[in-house]
Amino acid sequence: MKFATCLVGGQEQVGVVLAEQRCFVALGSDSMLDIISRFDGLVAAPANPGSGVSLDAVQLLAPIPRPARNIFCVGKNYRDHAREFAGSGYEAGAVKGAEIDEYAAVFTKPASSVVGDGARVSLHPESTNSVDYEGELAVVVGTAGRNISRANAMSHIFGYTIINDVTARDRQKNHKQWFLGKALDTFCPMGPWITTRDEVDAGHLRLQTWVNDELRQDANTKDLIFDIPGLIETLSSGMTLQPGDIIATGTPAGVGLGFSPPKFLKAGDTVVVKIEGLGSLTNTFG
Ligand code: MG
Repeated sequence: MKFATCLVGGQEQVGVVLAEQRCFVALGSDSMLDIISRFDGLVAAPANPGSGVSLDAVQLLAPIPRPARNIFCVGKNYRDHAREFAGSGYEAGAVKGAEIDEYAAVFTKPASSVVGDGARVSLHPESTNSVDYEGELAVVVGTAGRNISRANAMSHIFGYTIINDVTARDRQKNHKQWFLGKALDTFCPMGPWITTRDEVDAGHLRLQTWVNDELRQDANTKDLIFDIPGLIETLSSGMTLQPGDIIATGTPAGVGLGFSPPKFLKAGDTVVVKIEGLGSLTNTFG
């Protein structure tokens, strides 16, 4: 199933998306976190499209518009991207020959940076002149757990969504810790909805990113260096993962800094991130 959060007639509602019919069926007043917390892994009865409204008549918000905690993010999790980043001059402390990390690099984006599909992302010209996109598969945690083993990891997942890990490259480099470059308001587009884990094989999904119709990223999640079960094992070691926690798994090669000269985003640019089975996430920048 696909669960979305929408504005319908000015009211925030959560519901089921019937993607083929382009239909949204509201489920009452529950929040997405309520739905995630109650979900038992079974596929519920399909919603009745007769009670729904056209997706064209609603405004999609991020599926979890106000996450309870920061979004966990993994850096340098595709080999070609790790090399393009290390060679770009924008990675503080990059060491030639040591582009691939032995342990996953994890940082966070603040919950306040989240926006939905169709939202405008600010270029923040007062703060940065090097805004870049990163199309990523994101995992939504379903059941809480600490010290989750690889073998049990997938059972803790509610579903998957798409994140654009928008980054101010100058701030990422200059401040060394990546947080300030990743944390600006609107820098975490998420959506268009959450697809439950039974619908896709998250370890084999094509991921593509376009900037104004130019295909920039075209990869497959099978090439993750640190795979999803391993990331859950690592993140939950000594730290309880909670329902509704979000883990962005990293971006493949083809981000703007990988070009010579770099292709950073400009006012009016549109970025589309599409992942097989999960839909597409579209945002304009300005
Ligand atoms: Mg990223």
